[in-house]
Amino acid sequence: MSTKKRCRCSIVPPHLLDALRRHPDPKVRKIAEATLFLTHAARVKRGILAQGARPPLPTGTLRRTIYDGAQGPHIRGNILRSEGQPLADDRAANDAYDASGDTYEFYRSVFGRVSVDGKGLRLDSTVHYREDPEEPFDNAMWDGEEMLYGDGDGLIFGSFTKSLEVIGHELTHGVTQYTANLAYHDQPGALNESMSDVFGTMVKQWKLNQKVDQADWLIGSDLFLQKGLALRSMKNPGEAYKDVPDLGSDPQPADMDGYVQLPNTRAGDNGGVHINSGIPNRAFYLTCMNLGATHSWEMPGQIWYAALTSRLTANSTFVDAANGTISAARDVAGEGAASAVRAAWQEVRVLK
Ligand SMILES: [Zn+2]
Repeated sequence: MSTKKRCRCSIVPPHLLDALRRHPDPKVRKIAEATLFLTHAARVKRGILAQGARPPLPTGTLRRTIYDGAQGPHIRGNILRSEGQPLADDRAANDAYDASGDTYEFYRSVFGRVSVDGKGLRLDSTVHYREDPEEPFDNAMWDGEEMLYGDGDGLIFGSFTKSLEVIGHELTHGVTQYTANLAYHDQPGALNESMSDVFGTMVKQWKLNQKVDQADWLIGSDLFLQKGLALRSMKNPGEAYKDVPDLGSDPQPADMDGYVQLPNTRAGDNGGVHINSGIPNRAFYLTCMNLGATHSWEMPGQIWYAALTSRLTANSTFVDAANGTISAARDVAGEGAASAVRAAWQEVRVLK
């Protein structure tokens, strides 16, 4: 079976887990090691899925179901909360329920898109998930069909349900899967990652009604137990964390001069998909600035959404993304907008 078809798209990048494998606390080292390898392990546990456990779904309806992973590799185990039910006695379940609902409502009201597939796909989440029952799971992921959330190690990371942009990021991997279906390696893979950051941060800004100049443009700051850290900065790639003991420094480049060539392997982050994504991330941020946009989800978001859903394809490169968003800008808002988008891609040196 092709491994290209579907990514197991997780939020914590390999380079960060790799740094944690050298952490002085052996507990952190062990968890990072387990998460790094298990996150990428072949999916052999599909058999755990209960046969016929899913009732038929009316399309176009929000249908969230939050299951209990019970600190093991159990997908769709006991239901903690389903659509319309009152608060569960489980914080992670309620957080996953709320954030998947916010993401659904964002896509529906801003882009007229009904769920990740555009046809009302039910939103299933498993919280308290572990791939190895012996080790906490330092990650959240979209596995091609549903969301899986770990509780974190309790030392570096807390629960992975705490961050709205992370949940928006992961569900956007689903949207990409059903639209451009960007391959998960090298430049298409970095675009895949960037689209998830772009729409993930938009979900958060939309929910908080933040203007582009009020937003922090950080991804995953709520995941860290220590304040002042984030996985990535879309405004300043490479500045999300600097010289932090045991974590090192954010390796993201801010423009093509810093583009990192890595092999398309697990150790190489599939060609640096979580590293080079900083370049198109910043192009989106700069587009918001160049357009003088008030809110990211208005004109800038409409342009990026049009590019993702109707202009990009599986093997699109950064230049294709530049041309696709420029052409989308022309269609959405005319030549002035197209020039603003072009200038952003020039600032990150994707275009000359
Ligand atoms: Zn991702």
